[in-house]
Amino acid sequence: ERVFRVEATPVGSDTGLFVIIFKDQSEARRIDRMRADFIANASHELRTPLASIAGFIETLRGPAKNDAGARENFLQIMQNQTGRMARLIDDLLSLSRLEMKPYLGPGSKVDVRETVESVIGTLTPLASESGVVIVRELPEGPVEVPGSRDELFQVFENLLENACKYGQSGGKVVVSIEPSRAGPDPEVAVSFRDFGPGIAEEHIPRITERFYRVDVDTSRAQKGTGLGLAIVKHILTRHNARLSIKSKVGEGATFTVHLPVAKT
Ligand code: ADP
Repeated sequence: ERVFRVEATPVGSDTGLFVIIFKDQSEARRIDRMRADFIANASHELRTPLASIAGFIETLRGPAKNDAGARENFLQIMQNQTGRMARLIDDLLSLSRLEMKPYLGPGSKVDVRETVESVIGTLTPLASESGVVIVRELPEGPVEVPGSRDELFQVFENLLENACKYGQSGGKVVVSIEPSRAGPDPEVAVSFRDFGPGIAEEHIPRITERFYRVDVDTSRAQKGTGLGLAIVKHILTRHNARLSIKSKVGEGATFTVHLPVAKT
């Protein structure tokens, strides 16, 4: 559906002639709608844990007043729910910060290998908790790209965390860095490969959308907010980089970041 705004401007003072302009408003309308959807989704996502906390408070004051076992259990659930709300708010703030500054200033150089090593270090406890072994296929020396270390750290962290969370059943995650394009504009590919359930083809184009989750129950159980990949996409756009996703159901998934290499 296309929407136009019509504007009429008189030609000269009394020629009786008008120039009529049709302005295509479809894109503006689409963005308005996306914004409204986003606010509705975010409110819903925050409201759900809040409603559950309110319900437990009521139960603790009433029927479960003198039940120590129930009390402990309910407090634990309430703590989990507040954690979920805090994660969601952090992710919403990251997204809105990224949207306010869509362009990365004249950046510094980031050593991708060092950044990836550091992300692996941060997530090793989560991996061992999930029974996942992280296998490194990394070059010996530094690999420099222009950009922000903090932002690329967040990208790699989100992708490795997803690989460990969703690919848990595969038992291992392979992290690799290799040249992906030679020539005048060389690129480096940073890949996170898991051997879990994978992602069905029809979901792949949509999983980087905000709040899109393939299986809401599993993602909730996995402490997801549905915003991780949306943040990844935003940061990569700022770095002139791309994300490619390959997967076969039952065999796992590979998320690859293609970054332009720093010119020396
Ligand atoms: P979440 O906070 O739910 O993890 P993301 O934006 O990071 O949000 O991911 C969106 C959805 O994509 C996840 O809920 C999950 O369904 C799917 N997904 C992401 N990574 C993987 C993976 N490695 N294997 C299978 N599914 C994945």
